[in-house]
Amino acid sequence: MKVLVLNCGSSSLKYQLIDMSTEEALASGLCERIGIDGRLKHKGKENYEVEAEMKNHEDAIKLVIDALLDEKHGVITDVKEINAVGHRVVHGGEYFAKSVIIDDEVIKAVEDCIDLAPLHNPANLMGYRACKNLIDVPQVAVFDTSFHQTMPEKAYLYGIPYELYEKYKIRRYGFHGTSHKYVSNKAAEVLGKNIKDLKIITCHLGNGGSVAAIDGGKSVDTSMGFTPLEGLVMGTRCGDIDPAVVSFIMEKENLDNKQVDELMNKKSGVLGLSGVSSDFRDIEAAAKEGNKRAQIALDTFHYKVAKYIGEYTVALNGVDAIVFTAGLGENSKSSRAEICSYLSWLGIELDEEQNSKRGEDVVISKEGSKVKVLVIPTNEELVIARDTKELLDK
Ligand code: ADP
Repeated sequence: MKVLVLNCGSSSLKYQLIDMSTEEALASGLCERIGIDGRLKHKGKENYEVEAEMKNHEDAIKLVIDALLDEKHGVITDVKEINAVGHRVVHGGEYFAKSVIIDDEVIKAVEDCIDLAPLHNPANLMGYRACKNLIDVPQVAVFDTSFHQTMPEKAYLYGIPYELYEKYKIRRYGFHGTSHKYVSNKAAEVLGKNIKDLKIITCHLGNGGSVAAIDGGKSVDTSMGFTPLEGLVMGTRCGDIDPAVVSFIMEKENLDNKQVDELMNKKSGVLGLSGVSSDFRDIEAAAKEGNKRAQIALDTFHYKVAKYIGEYTVALNGVDAIVFTAGLGENSKSSRAEICSYLSWLGIELDEEQNSKRGEDVVISKEGSKVKVLVIPTNEELVIARDTKELLDK
């Protein structure tokens, strides 16, 4: 079975074609600037880039299919070789605790969640509709939120009037669910243990970042909330903040809702703190050259991640393993070392040589460490493809 995995944003679309017999990605790529002009970067047998008009997601997916079928760069000879499409859908609200085959009822529920993810869910639906018009195969929705639907009420409720939760479903949902699920399962595999017997804290540290507490394979808490803005200090998002700061800034800086929302989401985080960049590589380089604000941004970030790990050892009443993943988590040995320097009370010490490895599943804590620390490269596309296959095999 070959599954086309799609991650549709409002003006972009990422894709992978995965052969489920080997779980290997045959091709992958990215369409950018959909609705503006359009650019496709495709990696199949060979890499290539084309610029072509993409008025909408249907145009983009047509180009993706052409690229997959291309004589020189393509990886299939007939569109019928694509057996199913798996979509990353950002928000499933309280409707979806699992991935589902998309039908009219699912579409209605995803539409109902548009209020919760006004930029993402409409794009995900556009991707679904475009595929429906072009390839007649089953399509599956895999939600960023569903893995965290196992959180108990005490973890997901905010301390605001309960009626607001009932009326508008204002609560914590959490995101990056496919990644937290994948790396926690993989960590159990690497440790040779049943995940049911493990308390794991997973740290997905990319441009966006979140930490999750996973007890016996189930998410019991996570740092992102109603939206991805809560939790860690991120690339451009502020993370946890006293809510009173929002109205204070609005008043002092004369900003409306939209402007303050943009400030919190796009201009804050390590970008806002450092004034250098939202990219951790740039900030690390600037800090090395003595830029104080860059160093403060890094320190704030590491401290916050470590505090969440501390908090989640409480949520889990212990911890067996801590996992680092995503761009920074997988690649920055110095960030991992800084974060773990707060965790010596857990008996954690890193093995320098192991911590220097890259691109593989690896245990980086010293041998004999009671709490294991691991780096597991995430693979959200594979989770989407696996869920899709599993639903179709039923
Ligand atoms: P997202 O999917 O949220 O856009 P990624 O998981 O791709 O993010 O992570 C991107 C972040 O990872 C960027 O801030 C980037 O600087 C950081 N990153 C990638 N490689 C390294 C590295 N070698 N050292 C430090 N940071 C890195």
